[in-house]
Amino acid sequence: MICPFCSHEDTKVLESRMSSEKACIRRRRECENCQQRFTTYERVEISPVMVIKKNKLKEEYSREKIIKSISNSCVKYEIEQEIIQEIAARIEFGISLLGKKEITSAYIGEKILEYLKPVNEIAYLRYLSVFKKFETIEDLYKEINLCGKTLTFSN
Ligand SMILES: [Zn+2]
Repeated sequence: MICPFCSHEDTKVLESRMSSEKACIRRRRECENCQQRFTTYERVEISPVMVIKKNKLKEEYSREKIIKSISNSCVKYEIEQEIIQEIAARIEFGISLLGKKEITSAYIGEKILEYLKPVNEIAYLRYLSVFKKFETIEDLYKEINLCGKTLTFSN
């Protein structure tokens, strides 16, 4: 980071923190040459990525769609919006690390499941049932068993 006052190349970071909306990192810096202090805001930006859907159509990646998709399976289970935002941000970070121009909607779906499972198993199963299109109730039970749960019935 170049100092905006004297153009010196070395500045030291005094303090870093996530800004309130968690979309960027705020850093307080000090120039090692002139000792002037200034603040930078770093925003992680992901270069345009296309998502290939099941029907082979492509659409531009959007974080909002991930959030909406998770929200749809959570509505009744009250997962905090903040946690949903966090999951979406993590998935997006993972996508940026892949460095690919195209990813599949299945990849995103798997990631949503991966992060949803430890947060809320009911929402996870609900999302899974849509994602894998369970045909029968047995399919659902099988999946619940994979979750390590034993179903018990009482009457
Ligand atoms: Zn300076």
